[in-house]
Amino acid sequence: MEQETGFAPSADLSGLKDALAAIVGDDHVGDDLTTRQLHSEDVWVPARATIALVVAPGSTDEVAAVVRAASDAGYAVAPRGAGMSYTGGYVPVHDRTISLDMTRMDRILRLSRDDMTVTVEAGATWVAVNEALAAQGLRLPFWGPMSGLSSTIGGGISQLNAMFGAGHYGTSSESVVALTVVTATGEVVRTGARGPDGDTPHYRHFGPDLTGLFCGDCGTLGVKAEVTMRLIAAPRFEDTASFSFPTGKALLDAMAEIARSGVAAETCAFDPGLTVIRMKRASLMGDVKTLGAVVAKEKSLGKGLLAAAKIAIGGRNCIPPTDYPLHFACEGRSKAGVEADMAEARRICAAAGGSEIENTIAKVIRAMPFPPLNSMLGPTGEAWVPCHGVASLSTAPDILADILAVYDRRRAEMDAAEVHTGFLFTTMASNAIVIEPVFFWPQGWRKIHESAVEPAHLARLTQRPEDPDATALVTALRKELIEIFARYGTGHFQIGRIYPYRESRDAGSKALLDAIKGVVDPDRILNPGVLGFPAGGAA
Ligand SMILES: Cc1cc2nc3c(=O)[nH]c(=O)nc-3n(C[C@H](O)[C@H](O)[C@H](O)COP(=O)(O)OP(=O)(O)OC[C@H]3O[C@@H](n4cnc5c(N)ncnc54)[C@H](O)[C@@H]3O)c2cc1C
Repeated sequence: MEQETGFAPSADLSGLKDALAAIVGDDHVGDDLTTRQLHSEDVWVPARATIALVVAPGSTDEVAAVVRAASDAGYAVAPRGAGMSYTGGYVPVHDRTISLDMTRMDRILRLSRDDMTVTVEAGATWVAVNEALAAQGLRLPFWGPMSGLSSTIGGGISQLNAMFGAGHYGTSSESVVALTVVTATGEVVRTGARGPDGDTPHYRHFGPDLTGLFCGDCGTLGVKAEVTMRLIAAPRFEDTASFSFPTGKALLDAMAEIARSGVAAETCAFDPGLTVIRMKRASLMGDVKTLGAVVAKEKSLGKGLLAAAKIAIGGRNCIPPTDYPLHFACEGRSKAGVEADMAEARRICAAAGGSEIENTIAKVIRAMPFPPLNSMLGPTGEAWVPCHGVASLSTAPDILADILAVYDRRRAEMDAAEVHTGFLFTTMASNAIVIEPVFFWPQGWRKIHESAVEPAHLARLTQRPEDPDATALVTALRKELIEIFARYGTGHFQIGRIYPYRESRDAGSKALLDAIKGVVDPDRILNPGVLGFPAGGAA
């Protein structure tokens, strides 16, 4: 990432600090170095510049006033949820940047069973919203990423998510009905059909889809202040199963057919590399917590204890070390419907060459959907970073083969630098597979990891010194993989400053995007450089 130059502040920092404190209150403007440094890095990108101030607005009006004040003073604005991303989206490119900490805006503003919608402030976490809905027998269609213990609805809409409910309902934005967005000029944009009072959104489509414009923008077109999502009745029945496949191609063929048939609520698969990592990761503490969650989830104590006993006896070790395991969940309104979906998914897996294995991991994932974020470090404290592509069902096997060919070609370098890899695969609705290669390498952790990993877990890991050579190799490998994804025309979530977006669009789309950017952020103050928009001055 390049340092920006030529960004001229028009007021000094203490003047801006006073102006912001007058808007949000003294307690919500932070200038201590530790917090500023924490907000200056993400899970992958280390700090290269330092945030000037961390500002936590408490309402949409405060967001608008803060953005206007920052813009008037010549500062860039970096909206931040929980900071659990790894593509440099909110990382400052120069010191004259304020971090807009959205986590104070965490209220549920309206939960209506009558209208089957929920409106939340963008800083609400997935886990908090899910808990509030569960109490009323309701659920979001897409109901969260595995980071949902701390990651926010606003972050998940701004960069899109994969995981829970995605098999039936697609990504996070597909559940969104309306947004209240603050542009870089402080304008408030309210999207969707919004009822008699003009402020009770209930339906997304009313003319061109302005809601969609701001979904997946990584915060560079506007700050999401409020999000309305549609609700479904919480499925009354669910079941899970796990299969093991001898090859990645067999796994991806099965996943594609499961996606086409629409039977799974979500799928989650690994490669042999990630299975090894997961085995190493299993810790006593984690297992005690996990077993408790599994017992609590089963309808009777007897069934719960049996499921927990199977896991404790060694369910994690039942996967052949060279195989690709697939875990899936089916859910629905009737037991018979879920049984029929499970039978179809089993038939598909068997036809693709899969063998059924103990469904311990599938059970654990559903019993504990939002675990502590300890997996942002490797099993003994190695650095971790994923990348991904949203592939068509037909191209996924070829993409996997091309990535594995890169690893084969660079095996000696990777072994020498102790760079390990794994894959996570998941389906998106009936028409995509997310291929997510992950890297582990011997590099120490930073403040961002300390802020998210449980202290007791961190205490068991080994801190390592910086390893610039291994980090450079991971950077190069990640770049090579992103080029493969580009060749296959995959989509991407969490684009940030890593995946080519603007530069990969056709001339017409680019012109349209630039015109929109010119209106919502004429001075390029929102996450400069993200999505590939030039980071300052005229386009
Ligand atoms: C252990 C772990 C597990 C994960 N599991 C998953 C998973 O299962 N599925 C998945 O999809 N991802 C996963 N992720 C990635 C990541 O957590 C998610 O992408 C998540 O959506 C990030 O949300 P956040 O609130 O932390 O956003 P941040 O990281 O704070 O921000 C992300 C981007 O959105 C912008 N942004 C944030 N809030 C706003 C707002 N209110 N308005 C405008 N822009 C905003 C930021 O500027 C930035 O560009 C995982 C990450 C970790 C560390």
